[in-house]
Amino acid sequence: MSTDPAALFGGRFLDQDIPTRKFPDQGMPATDAMRLVALDMALEGDPGRNLATFVTTWMEPEAQRIIAANLHRNFIDHAEYPRTAEIEQRCIRMIADLFNAPGETVGARTQGSSEAIMLGALSLKWKWRERRAAAGASTDRPNLVFGGDVHVVWEKFCRYFDVEPRIVPLQEGRYTIGPDDVAPHLDDHTIGVAAVVGTTFTGHRDDVVGINDLLVRLKRERGLDVPLHVDGASGGFVWPFLYPDTPWDFRLEQVRSINVSGHKFGLVYPGVGWLIFREADDLASDLVFEENYLGKTDSTFTLNFSTGSSMVLAQYYNLVRFGREGYTYIMRGMEDNARALADRLEAIDRFELIGREDEHLPLVAFRLRADEPFDEFDLAWQLSAERGWMVPAYTLPPNAQKITIMRALVKENFSREHVDTLARDIADACATLERKGGAHEEERRQMVQGPGH
Ligand SMILES: *Cc1c(COP(=O)(O)O)cnc(C)c1O
Repeated sequence: MSTDPAALFGGRFLDQDIPTRKFPDQGMPATDAMRLVALDMALEGDPGRNLATFVTTWMEPEAQRIIAANLHRNFIDHAEYPRTAEIEQRCIRMIADLFNAPGETVGARTQGSSEAIMLGALSLKWKWRERRAAAGASTDRPNLVFGGDVHVVWEKFCRYFDVEPRIVPLQEGRYTIGPDDVAPHLDDHTIGVAAVVGTTFTGHRDDVVGINDLLVRLKRERGLDVPLHVDGASGGFVWPFLYPDTPWDFRLEQVRSINVSGHKFGLVYPGVGWLIFREADDLASDLVFEENYLGKTDSTFTLNFSTGSSMVLAQYYNLVRFGREGYTYIMRGMEDNARALADRLEAIDRFELIGREDEHLPLVAFRLRADEPFDEFDLAWQLSAERGWMVPAYTLPPNAQKITIMRALVKENFSREHVDTLARDIADACATLERKGGAHEEERRQMVQGPGH
């Protein structure tokens, strides 16, 4: 029997071009297809060195087994998979408890914070319309107030769903917002205020207590009920453990809804977020669809429909596996390593650390202190080229756009040895750049810019 040696001894793509454009006429053996994808991934960035992302890049093997074992389950089929639906509800109740909800509440599993924010903000718009209609007032020209420190999804919501964004600009040296920034923008057409706990830019939080106090006063004195939504995409799973005595959640009266990304500090792989309302009444009932599908009635409040169950199950696994004790231990470990990295960077004597003393996410935000023959973009490029570290450099939003910073996330799989190595690599990269000057314009153009997410 004659056998093709490539099939016997090697991958056929060792010396053949791979299919990239035309819908293939013929298929290939499963091992070839598997090898083809794996070879592509060998050229991909290494998630273990991706310090740009807030998203989880490591989970326990036991969690990975649950994920792999349930990939064939469609989360939306509540009638067919009632246990998965029950587990979703358990997660919602536990996270609502973590956020100090006063009693029974409602919420939703989402694909991430972006979907949770779209849904939460839609509910703000619908509830505002209800209040206005009940008062016989006009329901045109709704607006939403937030700072320039928010994630792009807030502007996206405003454009997609026709709401005027009222964006409070940042200032040099001040990268979060407070009540005095918000107050001038509020009026009868304000559907809500969004505050961030754990910004993408520097990891700090808006003055949620101050903004809440302002809104409570507004309600008492002028009868204007403006709800506060907290974007806790990252901070929602950090503040309860690192800063349990800081109120930012449902302990504050005007906080009506909170989103959090399960796949950030909830420590689950990408594909899960949560929207939690303070009370059932904070969810506009018109947004919930009662559907008769496959013979059973089911209520849904989502933008997407079909999606996998695995990440919901993995979230539940993490909640019961870690509990408050475990999450606190893990968050403190990250924070310790972030502090160690900050110390090492300070010792290099070229960097200014941004807001080290304030409450922040486990990350280090820093910038070059003085004029150097290179800038932060050069350094980001050099680090990536030399050592494969992904540490982004980006400019801050208006009116702080003159400030360029770099930011390294310190996650669960970033050990003390990684801290030491990264700090040494940063010092080396600076020395190299000092010798040769900044990277060429062409190299800089290839840099991925923006803060990551
Ligand atoms: C990451 C992030 C988002 C978007 O969340 P996804 O889960 O990626 O959809 C929104 N807001 C903030 C503050 C974030 O950090």
